[in-house]
Amino acid sequence: MVAPGQTPGYLQVQPTPTARVNECFLNVQEQVEAEGGQMLCGWQIWEWPNVLVEAEFHAVWFSLDGRLVDVTPKQEGEGRILFVGDPSLAYAGLAKDNVRLAIRDDLLIRHFIRVSEEIVKVMNRGERAGTYGYVSIPAHEIEPLMDARSLLGRSIAEGRREKSPCLCGSGGRYKYCHGRDFPW
Ligand SMILES: [Zn+2]
Repeated sequence: MVAPGQTPGYLQVQPTPTARVNECFLNVQEQVEAEGGQMLCGWQIWEWPNVLVEAEFHAVWFSLDGRLVDVTPKQEGEGRILFVGDPSLAYAGLAKDNVRLAIRDDLLIRHFIRVSEEIVKVMNRGERAGTYGYVSIPAHEIEPLMDARSLLGRSIAEGRREKSPCLCGSGGRYKYCHGRDFPW
């Protein structure tokens, strides 16, 4: 359970003029200073149909007149988001990993979720924890992970399954090709 007792609902995205993508906490703080109201933390929910559901730690604005508004612009320009509030969550300066649930049982999806979690771990390791927004990671640590996620993401997007021929073109099934050597 992501947020017991809270019901997911759609919120309008109404970015303020100075708001930036991926900076929801700063954006909401600025909006509260300018217009009053308060910050509500919770989860923004994305669905990759038939593949997985992903919940991303997110902050929205609760206006003085009782509206919940997402003041953070979206990469893809979406006009609304699915959001579930969780008042027990508060932003403490640490990037919180997304929660991901597979919609069906397939090795490609399980590996995609594992490697996505590993990427966040590497980005949060040691003194990098607490850095919000910009992080610098040695290429040899992050590149194999990004390559694996890219291979898996493209495979799933093409409709491949764990028994399909591996995307690398070897002719073998993913399960016995790149899937067998998957180290994470
Ligand atoms: Zn392969």
